[in-house]
Amino acid sequence: MTDQALADLGRRLPELRLLTDAGDLEHYGRDWTRRWTPAPLAIALPASVEEVQDVVRWANEHKVAIVPSGGRTGLSGGAVAARGELVLSLARMNRVLGFDAVDRTLTVQPGIALEAVHEAARTHGLIYPVDFAARGSCSLGGNIATNAGGIRVIRYGNTREWIAGLKVVTGHGELLDLNRGLIKNSSGYDLRQLMIGSEGTLGIVVEATLRLTEPPPASQVMLLALPNMDALMQVFALFREHLSLQAFEFFTDIALKHVLAHGAQRAIDGEHPYYVVTEFEAPDERAQDAAMAAFEKGVEGGLISDGVLAQSDAQAAALWRLREGITESLAPHKPYKNDISVRIGAVPAFLHDIQTLLAREYPHIEVVWFGHIGDGNLHINVLKPEALSDADFIAQCEHVTKLLADTLHRHGGSISAEHGIGLVKRAYLESTRSASEIALMRGVRQVFDPNGILNPGKLFI
Ligand SMILES: Cc1cc2nc3c(=O)[nH]c(=O)nc-3n(C[C@H](O)[C@H](O)[C@H](O)COP(=O)(O)OP(=O)(O)OC[C@H]3O[C@@H](n4cnc5c(N)ncnc54)[C@H](O)[C@@H]3O)c2cc1C
Repeated sequence: MTDQALADLGRRLPELRLLTDAGDLEHYGRDWTRRWTPAPLAIALPASVEEVQDVVRWANEHKVAIVPSGGRTGLSGGAVAARGELVLSLARMNRVLGFDAVDRTLTVQPGIALEAVHEAARTHGLIYPVDFAARGSCSLGGNIATNAGGIRVIRYGNTREWIAGLKVVTGHGELLDLNRGLIKNSSGYDLRQLMIGSEGTLGIVVEATLRLTEPPPASQVMLLALPNMDALMQVFALFREHLSLQAFEFFTDIALKHVLAHGAQRAIDGEHPYYVVTEFEAPDERAQDAAMAAFEKGVEGGLISDGVLAQSDAQAAALWRLREGITESLAPHKPYKNDISVRIGAVPAFLHDIQTLLAREYPHIEVVWFGHIGDGNLHINVLKPEALSDADFIAQCEHVTKLLADTLHRHGGSISAEHGIGLVKRAYLESTRSASEIALMRGVRQVFDPNGILNPGKLFI
């Protein structure tokens, strides 16, 4: 049946690039999670919106599931194809389509890398402010489908804030042109926003119009060493009161150990349990003095043990590497990832609860804490001990995630802050969304994709 379906696709769309080699199936069938064995039916690489529509119509006729695929840097299994799905990779649709100087918008195809968007914005003297370490390989389509966050959310918000218009192919194969770059549009439901963060379950993003903005004033980057966990949010409050923060990221000494082993350079001597990389606007002497004053106040108050202020762009990049290199440095240890959030105000109490929980549940397992703490977002990576089998390790982590989900529920938090639910967190969706919400979400999915063609098994069980 599937061979026939594939042959029919080849006949109907002779120009469509279709890959079926074992190496391609493996390459395109997985994302960064590496937990599932890739087993897609084939890989389709359309070059136009019309081809995307035709593939979706074909999939409806043959009841073949489609996995929309961007850069596959996802950390929740959203782009995994392990059950005979057709992977629809947007990699060939990767161009900038236009720039509008008056609207300050950039229109792009979905397969373009985030970094290429940054470069395109820069050529027009503007910025696209969503940014994070996977910038070179993640795609805008994937960023939109996951409502990606990153290191500048504290200043600019998530991807959601920067999408002025979207073209989307629904599960029927219809093309929707949503919001068309309008700033003001009070004409009913905002379907554009519904698409953002829908993880490829409502539609396939085939074009996006991005808002750009002015570059920020000159900034400075500081690395801080902190004596204890309580100091984290106190230093955050202190710095936010006196400075215009662009980023406020934290990591622990265990994270530092891994990133140093991976080639980063130590910037502060001695042993310290917690570190913060912060970037703040410092266009003039007044702002720079304010930063030093905040730093000194933190030291005097016993909240900061040591610090380094970058003196050059190269030094700033080296400090940033300590934070941005963590995910990559942990990858060889097959980490089980938790990407969780609570309100900023709830962080201190939440940190205490989960510190107790994780110390109790993982007494002999290395747990690495880091993340966008200024947004209330923590990445907790549990590293697989060599002696434990993959299956036993996952089973233990799933048990702990259930307890973590209960704790999050008590604190009003979310089981997925920015990576999406995908396959990894679908069993815990109800810790974050009520039964009524989930029922409505399923209903919405039914409207956009009645045959369940788009990314089935993701987001919902
Ligand atoms: C080193 C590293 C650091 C990271 N840091 C961050 C971070 O700070 N913040 C953050 O938010 N994430 C981060 N991530 C996670 C990841 O990069 C983001 O989730 C990113 O948005 C995924 O983009 P992608 O193109 O790789 O998507 P993929 O992994 O290919 O897909 C992700 C989801 O989007 C869907 N999708 C892809 N393209 C489309 C499309 N055109 N239309 C509809 N659905 C589509 C897929 O089906 C899947 O459900 C990091 C990952 C790595 C490896």
